[in-house]
Amino acid sequence: MTHPNIVILTGAGISAESGLGTFRDEGGLWAQHRIEDVATPEGFARNPQLVVDFYNARRAQAAEATPNPAHLALARLQAEHSGQVLLVTQNVDSLHEKAGSTNAVHMHGALASALCAACEVRWEAPLTMHVGEACPSCSRPTARPDIVWFGEIPYHMDRIERALMEADIFAAIGTSGNVYPAAGFVQMAAHVGAKTVEMNLDPSATVNLFEEVRPGKASETVPQWVDSLLSD
Ligand code: NAD
Repeated sequence: MTHPNIVILTGAGISAESGLGTFRDEGGLWAQHRIEDVATPEGFARNPQLVVDFYNARRAQAAEATPNPAHLALARLQAEHSGQVLLVTQNVDSLHEKAGSTNAVHMHGALASALCAACEVRWEAPLTMHVGEACPSCSRPTARPDIVWFGEIPYHMDRIERALMEADIFAAIGTSGNVYPAAGFVQMAAHVGAKTVEMNLDPSATVNLFEEVRPGKASETVPQWVDSLLSD
């Protein structure tokens, strides 16, 4: 295959070595809060201050973080590979962008972005958002973090599914395979004959669906995988 189309899915595990906790980390931000309280539209309606504070804390933490060798290797792959590379992330941090990736698709939203719940306009989020902040477009007090919460529809699904239908290689990195639709991407890619590879510290919930498994830390496995692709 001379110019394979590559689709890559990343999850919290790729940012773990940059100091951003995964969802399962003991003592991490997530461990101190219930998902229903901070990551659902109902939680936001019940207690917007708690939710805005939670994402302010995550935004502050993410602003300090720097990309690790896994993010840098994926940016290098995007720059040097002759075929298409679609980088899809479930992460809301900006570490792919900080590493030099210009077109990462944030299917679960981004801490760096604010969204108007009324008119759906987006703008750059300040480091600290406030409850009831006015939308710069419609002026209503309906600003919210631009995060896809449980029960909401992930972004850019048409584009992602189109890319999966044309994928020759699909890789999932640092994701536990528990949250759909992302956890179903491996099946879609395998269905069209793509070679599938998992790079994760622990086997994911969908590990058996992958053709190849490269266990270990993303900072080690991802640069090795990228080197092997670029030298093919
Ligand atoms: P996750 O925390 O569920 O899984 C992270 C995975 O990364 C684990 O399988 C772990 O083995 C692996 N990992 C940890 N360190 C690693 C390293 N150094 N190198 C490689 N792999 C490493 O995260 P996820 O799969 O991204 O979660 C998916 C989505 O779930 C998130 O985008 C979020 O929207 C949603 N979510 C999940 C929870 C939850 O509690 N499961 C809570 C809120 C939101």
